[in-house]
Amino acid sequence: MTTYTSEQIKNLVDGKLDWDTTLRMLSMPKDAERFQMYVDTLQKKLGWKDRIVLPLGPHMYIVQQAKTKKWVTQCDCGHVFCDYRENWKLHANIYVRDNEEAMTEVYPKMMAPDTKWQVYREYYCPECGTMHDVEAPTPWYPVVHDFEPDIEAFYAEWVKLPVPERAD
Ligand SMILES: [Zn+2]
Repeated sequence: MTTYTSEQIKNLVDGKLDWDTTLRMLSMPKDAERFQMYVDTLQKKLGWKDRIVLPLGPHMYIVQQAKTKKWVTQCDCGHVFCDYRENWKLHANIYVRDNEEAMTEVYPKMMAPDTKWQVYREYYCPECGTMHDVEAPTPWYPVVHDFEPDIEAFYAEWVKLPVPERAD
């Protein structure tokens, strides 16, 4: 079993690890204590009454709202995107880089793709402007709903903790 250093945990909390590593660390078997520690640390850092159910990325979480007990997808800044089962990207500010000028603002010229075949879609929080995701689809490809975690299974099988209450 892999163990993680306190440095890695700190990076995890600071959002400096990529999502694959984060998920790997969170889904370590029998690692309930680490998950709880991680969520507690995040909870303290964010200072919310809303309870974190599952971190979705460096600045995004599924939370149980303190008042309603509903689960929603929420940004660092407290902005609520939508119900956790909906695609939050459809509630984000979307910036599409679909021409050479927009591409070369952020990507080196030789590396920028041909925008006839590929565009970049960047998803931002409408309130604080944090970029939560970027996709590189073909221009006609629908908005990707990439991550539907099975939270019940995650709690039951991986971290072996009771699932937070949910009001629908
Ligand atoms: Zn935000």
